[in-house]
Amino acid sequence: ANTQFFRDTWAEINLDNLYKNVSAVRGLLPEGVGIFAVVKANAYGHGDFQVSETALEAGAHGLAVAFLDEALSLRKRGITAPILVLGASRAEDAALAAEHDISLTVFQREWLEEAVGFLPSEKNVSLHIKCDTGVNRLGVRTIEELKELERIMDSSPQLVFEGVFTHFATADELDESLYQKQFAAFKEMVASLREKPKYVHAANSAASLRHSQSSFNAIRFGISMYGLSPSEEMKGLLPFPLKEVFSLHARLVHVKKINPGESVSYGATYTAEGEEWIGTLPIGYADGWIRRLQGQEVLVDGKRAPIVGRICMDQCMIKLPHEMPVGTLVTLIGCQGDESISIDEIAEKLETINYEVPCIISNRVPRVFI
Ligand code: PLP
Repeated sequence: ANTQFFRDTWAEINLDNLYKNVSAVRGLLPEGVGIFAVVKANAYGHGDFQVSETALEAGAHGLAVAFLDEALSLRKRGITAPILVLGASRAEDAALAAEHDISLTVFQREWLEEAVGFLPSEKNVSLHIKCDTGVNRLGVRTIEELKELERIMDSSPQLVFEGVFTHFATADELDESLYQKQFAAFKEMVASLREKPKYVHAANSAASLRHSQSSFNAIRFGISMYGLSPSEEMKGLLPFPLKEVFSLHARLVHVKKINPGESVSYGATYTAEGEEWIGTLPIGYADGWIRRLQGQEVLVDGKRAPIVGRICMDQCMIKLPHEMPVGTLVTLIGCQGDESISIDEIAEKLETINYEVPCIISNRVPRVFI
């Protein structure tokens, strides 16, 4: 159930579309290949609990988050599916992970040796070894290191070797050279293991949608579950149409006519040329609708209208095409009639990537699940 809220600004999360995106990738994968739905960062700002439940219903077998805190929060709310923490965790928290049946990522010998000391004798912790094949972020870099970790886990029954994985730096780019290099390096690393663990995984959304050979026996599906293309270049290469899940809306809370020469908002950066109808929206930079979005258009009555003047902490103003009643629906991201403002359009305006846009819409904006 959605919690009650008392201001007219909200993000709509279309779980039907999310379900369709997950089903579509499910249909693309060979039987037996698992899907970790990537729900870190509150499911890229969409709401991790609801997204998790829908993704699991649609055919994901498990979830992936960045930090142990995120995994614990999902367990607290009753999620029982497998959860993998992709980022680094502390060795002393191995017992907490074990207690809640949360799988951790490991890549250091010292970590494994330390963790054993923190595990109560009856507890086992499930671990995935991260292989660094070119991102140079986390992971073992050589076959020797990998085999050493495997040996330590083999000799410690409390450390369960559940998975091995890598991550691609450029799977979303047309130039495949680094991707191919990483793919080959990972295959070689996996081949060196004495025994393959339950999960071997490498593919993010881009690799899952473009390179079927990279699926091994599980994928980690993030951005495209939310209906977004991993990059501009990949838009023409998608095997099925993606359906955007996130939209952002508000209602006009004040409307007035201003005279020529009058200015709007802090700094008086916008001055009306003629008589103009100005509407006020109850959303501002504290909601993640940041000041750089000054000049961005929004949709009202099915048409585009510009944000005028500086964006304030909690409010911003738009120039209306004509007088409109207080309470009129304004769409900041999403569709009205034939017009639409995509997350990609906002990302371009902010000179960033689509991933960042729903992530920065702050928790103050309620998520309404439809
Ligand atoms: N795997 C890892 C290790 C990640 O860090 C991420 C996200 O950044 C993903 C998978 C999901 O990637 P995407 O959102 O591009 O599908």
